[in-house]
Amino acid sequence: MIGKKREKGYILGGGAVADGKGLFLSDGALRVEEGVIREIGPSGSMMKGDLPFIDVKGRLILPGMVNFHHHLYSTFSPGFAPLGPTETFPDILENLWWPLDRAVNEEILYYSVLMGALDSLSYGVTTIFDHHASMNLDRGSLDIAAEALNRAGCRGVLCLETSDRQGAEARNRQVEENIAFWEKHRGDPFLSGMMGLHANFTLSDESLALVAERKPAEMPIHIHCGESVEDFLFCRRAGYRGPADRLNAFGLLDGKSFLIHCVNLAPEEYALLDKVRPAIVLNPESNANNRVGTPQRDCLPDHLLGTDGMSGDMISALRSYYLLGRGNKEDFARMERMFFSLPGERLEQYLPARFGFYPGAPADIAVPDYVPLSPLNEGNILGHLLFGARGGRAFLTAVNGKILWYRGEFPYADLDILRLEARSAAQSLANRFPLQRKGGSS
Ligand SMILES: [Zn+2]
Repeated sequence: MIGKKREKGYILGGGAVADGKGLFLSDGALRVEEGVIREIGPSGSMMKGDLPFIDVKGRLILPGMVNFHHHLYSTFSPGFAPLGPTETFPDILENLWWPLDRAVNEEILYYSVLMGALDSLSYGVTTIFDHHASMNLDRGSLDIAAEALNRAGCRGVLCLETSDRQGAEARNRQVEENIAFWEKHRGDPFLSGMMGLHANFTLSDESLALVAERKPAEMPIHIHCGESVEDFLFCRRAGYRGPADRLNAFGLLDGKSFLIHCVNLAPEEYALLDKVRPAIVLNPESNANNRVGTPQRDCLPDHLLGTDGMSGDMISALRSYYLLGRGNKEDFARMERMFFSLPGERLEQYLPARFGFYPGAPADIAVPDYVPLSPLNEGNILGHLLFGARGGRAFLTAVNGKILWYRGEFPYADLDILRLEARSAAQSLANRFPLQRKGGSS
């Protein structure tokens, strides 16, 4: 097995080592031992000792990418026809995503997370912030997701969607599942938890008050915030400026909160976000797919990028961010921060490790499968990713030094067997999905 030969350590070099925030070696290398980056330097000076040399042949060697908002339970959704109209955003939820998540059982959950995580690894993603939903499977659901993520080898920050959809008892179990998982993984550099909340418009005042009372103060929330106009109007009718203001009124908004989308906000809420500085995660492909509008990125403070279940490909998501709903300000400077410096800074708030390229850092590495032909320098990496790489599978992905994806293969996973097992789980989902029609059995 390709990966297992290199468990002791290796030199990864022969390409441009860059972290997008100052480090740039046009022909550089990393020495990786025991899961950690031990040395960074020019390839020529690093080819010594008995560690194997992995030559990336002119590709870019970058820190592992982070998907800040994903729904791995949606892995098997391609090809599923909605069970009714999809004209409005609530229609899309009622006729596609809600029946789908009600149909998720243990087997479907395990294989959708495993295959979705492997897919993400193949794009150079080393950490996934996953917002899981399975309304008929709450207790223990995050342990199943964690087991699958561990098998794939990916880092994760997981949560279970809490909402009023299935009634108060289910909502209470969802809250407790999030808290139990978060407590269990305190101090774990591979897995961590958050308080998963669906959105303001599916959570009553009573539910938000309950979350505020039960949730440990330092446990962050992860919520869809102002995704559609319906979420915004719900909060306005309840007497708030908008969805961020309502969360703040319940004491749920702080600097570690994860606010997803932020498309439909009141003008006054931008000042609130500027003051509190939560993690704001934009998902341009999903917003376009759901026709919910585009966020006012010039008004938002620093933000991050997610795929919202649309794919595992972060370079493709970055390109979509650039092409869809461009702002007036310096998009390139903003994207450099969004893609390179901010992910590491944010990640360290949720997983107890310092990520990036420096001696002592966990070796989370992405090598996009792209060989630049035109000149590459410290200042034009983003241009190469956007217009050269454009997306697509990675050449190599390593998490904690372990090479999990290399030249089109998973060294530790038998993809043919896994696909057979996953196909069976996906068939089960396809059979169960139409039975969850609104008003039907659930
Ligand atoms: Zn989402």
